[in-house]
Amino acid sequence: SNTHITFIGLGLMGVPMVNNLLKAGFRVTGFDLNSEVAEKFSGQNNFKFSKSAVEAVSDAAVTILMLPDSSIIDGVIWGNAGQEGISAHLKKGSFLVDMSSASPVSSRANNQKLNEIGINYVDAPVSGGVKKAIDGTLSIIVGGSSQDFEKTHALLEVMGKSITHVGAAGAAHAVKALNNYISAAGLIAVSESLIAAEKFGLDTHVVNKVFNTSTGKNNTTENKVENFMLSGAFNSGFSLALMSKDVQIALKFIEDMGCYSNLAQQCVKTSEEANQSLGKGADHTAVFKYVKSFQ
Ligand code: NAD
Repeated sequence: SNTHITFIGLGLMGVPMVNNLLKAGFRVTGFDLNSEVAEKFSGQNNFKFSKSAVEAVSDAAVTILMLPDSSIIDGVIWGNAGQEGISAHLKKGSFLVDMSSASPVSSRANNQKLNEIGINYVDAPVSGGVKKAIDGTLSIIVGGSSQDFEKTHALLEVMGKSITHVGAAGAAHAVKALNNYISAAGLIAVSESLIAAEKFGLDTHVVNKVFNTSTGKNNTTENKVENFMLSGAFNSGFSLALMSKDVQIALKFIEDMGCYSNLAQQCVKTSEEANQSLGKGADHTAVFKYVKSFQ
């Protein structure tokens, strides 16, 4: 395909996702506030780094966002004190595909305002982390009209394996936040459990092996305990700041729905406190270190 894609947000996830688009034959124009990331694509003929978001989008059939959070996303789309928004420069009839993890309320509003100016919108957040981004096997959750889902499906298949339409615009960002809340709850529960088991004198590797062959098994026990926690590496590629943002979105969503949110509240509290305590740049698996600091 020779379709022109613009990709804004070339971080840990954005870079491998763009690599898969280039491999599939798309022409990609990239933009990131950090211009050093351009070097990651040196020698790739179909990739061009743009010096501004506004310039990057003007010719794109599809603009993909892979940015940290809704306040940054809204600034990029609509502008703020520091920057001009891309909204006035997007081609009429083109697509804005927000693959970041963001607030469903903001996404719903963005969908409506973009539709009013002739731009199609879907939210298409991903799950699976850097490894699945590299392999092109992300789980991609899509919110938007059925028609827009059909039109973006082939493009999303380049980056993901399981692609699920969950509802109207904003719905995917809600489901993504809920997924990450469940995942974070698992991470915290496993951290508390392993540290208590260790204090009791048990071998945490054996304990985790039992979890993995029992009903406590979850993504933390299967993929994070050995690789990133017990090893002391704490380098999964998903930051604690982003996890904390996600559980806050989930809590707000659950509260907005007027539903029971006791565990979600605790999860936000632990995530935020760990984030403050461990400081900027901490990996989400370092929650284990934070929990350990209390013994
Ligand atoms: P990251 O921090 O590595 O990358 C974000 C990029 O956005 C950075 O390169 C940053 O310079 C850039 N950026 C920030 N503000 C910008 C602006 N105004 N204009 C242009 N670029 C800007 O984050 P990531 O891990 O790649 O995550 C991106 C999104 O994907 C987040 O919403 C995150 O929650 C979600 N996500 C991450 C993972 C993961 O495992 N890392 C998994 C699934 C979803």
